[in-house]
Parts: sequence; structure tokens; C-alpha cells
Amino acid sequence: MKSFKIAVVPGDGIGPEIVPAALKVVDALGENEGFRLEKDYFSWGAGNYLNTGEFMPSNGLKILKPFDAVFFGSVGLPEVDDTLPAKDYTFKVRTGFQQYVNYRPVRTWPGFHGPLKDKKNIDFVVVRENTEGEFVQVGRQFMPDSPNGMGIDTSVFTRQGIERVAHYAFQLAQRRRKKVHHITKSNTLINSLTYWDRVIKEVALQYPDVEHYQMYIDNCSANFVLRPELFDVVLTTNLFGDILSDLGGAIMGSLGLGGSGNINPEREYPSMFEPIHGSAPDIAGRNVANPLGTIWSAALMLEHLGETVAADKLMAAMDKTCTEGILPVDLGGKSGTNEIADAIIRHLE
Ligand code: ATP
Repeated sequence: MKSFKIAVVPGDGIGPEIVPAALKVVDALGENEGFRLEKDYFSWGAGNYLNTGEFMPSNGLKILKPFDAVFFGSVGLPEVDDTLPAKDYTFKVRTGFQQYVNYRPVRTWPGFHGPLKDKKNIDFVVVRENTEGEFVQVGRQFMPDSPNGMGIDTSVFTRQGIERVAHYAFQLAQRRRKKVHHITKSNTLINSLTYWDRVIKEVALQYPDVEHYQMYIDNCSANFVLRPELFDVVLTTNLFGDILSDLGGAIMGSLGLGGSGNINPEREYPSMFEPIHGSAPDIAGRNVANPLGTIWSAALMLEHLGETVAADKLMAAMDKTCTEGILPVDLGGKSGTNEIADAIIRHLE
């Protein structure tokens, strides 16, 4: 039997509910499909910070490095400074492990209507650059208490950073419907994003079989709602991708539906899989969190590990569960986190 070493970081809020629910499903799937997850659990996050002063230990990346993948819930608690979860955990892993692709798929689900009731053919992937851009956290506050105070953050876009994520997006499009929209705001961010445009256009020339369009973020946001069927692969920057993928979750029907992978395509480091939403402390501890985005993230992890048949079966079991009307509260249903996981297990073939 094949086995994969998985580092599990449930995190805070609903993380310790949705992560075990998803892993219970994957374990059952593994029994059917002939693989096993060897799991090590790490209780890192904002709760750990309150206890120890650290989100993760200073050698956290060294600890995670030998694993085949990291399966992550979400970090953050209302009583902890909200600037810390990204700085002290998420960005550390994403940049430390060169997970420069944030893969965030969006699709129409069966069994319920999202807010775009008449849109039945939504199926695209947001490929968000995940290590640089607007989130490099280089900047400073000057005299913050003074009337002349100011705050500055610098965006950093490097040729290497743009090229590598662009190649990933175009190669992904070659395996899909052969269309890339690259999203910028280069009419106003005239240094950084015109450079982004230039490098992406150069990369696009190497993929003549892929249609390539440039679109501004404002127009793109409107089109996510009005004409989402336009999109196949949406290639964008760190900040724009963060926002667009939440909008992607919303047009599916809920933030709780979005799965994602932080991918190191070269596989030099482990990739990390997590739902797109945060730790949702407002609903934590009540067995009402939607586990579907986390389970979708598990399917993406299996695909990354080469278990593509199992990943397809997992998606099919989620679809059957939703089609039967076994839905979480955020989608208008009555089923709890665990009941949904159990129903998906029943629908595994
Ligand atoms: P972050 O910035 O870390 O992504 P956030 O501040 O955007 O987090 P979330 O924790 O994602 O906030 O929560 C936003 C809203 O979505 C909350 O009302 C939360 O309850 C709801 N929500 C998020 N995830 C789920 C889920 N899995 N199931 C149901 N509701 C959810």
C-alpha cells in the first residue's frame, strides 16, 4: 500500500473541526483506493501563540520540509493581532517553501443555487502569484502618531517571480480550455504592473496554442459576476488573487466552498493545501462549519500526490452528497460538519 507523509496543521477557530472531518473522508477513500496518509499533527497557530509566544517554532520549516505535503486549516483568533497569522505562519511557509502558485479553483456545484442562479457553467482556476507582489511586507510607518504620519508598503515584482507563475498558468491552460486572462491594473500602477504585463506577454508568445487576454481588475470583478463563463485560467498578483478568489467563493455560493493549493511546482519543498476562508471564529465549536472547501483542498492534495483517480472519486462523492440535498448551514442546509463528511464517505465508490 502506498503511503504519504502528511503534516497536519489544523490551526484555530473552525480549523480543528473541518480538518479532521476532511481527513476522515480521505482515510476512508485511501482504504478503497490503496493508499494511506501517515499523519503528524502540529498544534500551531494563534492558540499556540497565546500559550508560547510563537505561531510555530523557529525551526518550523525544517520540521515540515521532509513531509510530502502540509494539510492546513486556518490560523487567527479575535484576541490575537490580525497582522500576525500571515506574517508568522502562512507567508513564512508560502515563501520559505517557494510555493509560488496559489491554485484556487471555482466552479458550479450541483444540488444548490449560488447567487448566480442562471450560471450553470462556471469552471475556472485563479492562479495567484503567492510569494511577492503587494504582500512582501516591505515598508514602514513614519511618525504614526503625528498629524504628518504616513504608512508605506512596497510592491515587488521580479522577472523570475512573474515568469515562473506565468509558465505554470499557461501550461495549466494547455491542459484545460486553453485560455488565460491575466489581470492587472497597469493603467494606474504604471511601474510594477506594466512590468508584469510585459513579462507575461513575453511568456505568452511561447504558448501560441493558448488564447491570452489582459483585463483590468475592476472589469474582471464585474465579469466574475456577469460573465464568469468567460474564464478558464485567471492569472493574477498576490493581492488581486486574494480578493478575486474570495469573490470566486462567493459566486459559487459560500466562502466555505473554496479549496486551494499553495504549490511548489518543482517539488523541491512540500506544497500546502488549505481552504480559502479564514478561521471563522464566529461559528467555531458548533459543528456548523462547511467542510466542502477543506475536502476539495484534500482532493487537490491527492491530485498533487499523483492519486488523480482517488481525487476524481472524492469530487464525485461530494457532488452526490450535495445533489441529495445534504448541505451545510451556509448553503441553506441543516447538516453539520461531521454529518456532511459521513455522507461523503457513504458516497465514495
Ligand atoms: P482571512 O482573512 O483569514 O481569510 P476573514 O477575516 O476573511 O479571514 P473568515 O474567517 O474567512 O474571515 O470568515 C468570513 C465569514 O465567512 C465569517 O462570517 C465566517 O463565519 C464565514 N465562513 C468562513 N468559512 C466558513 C465555513 N467553512 N463555513 C461556514 N462559514 C464560513
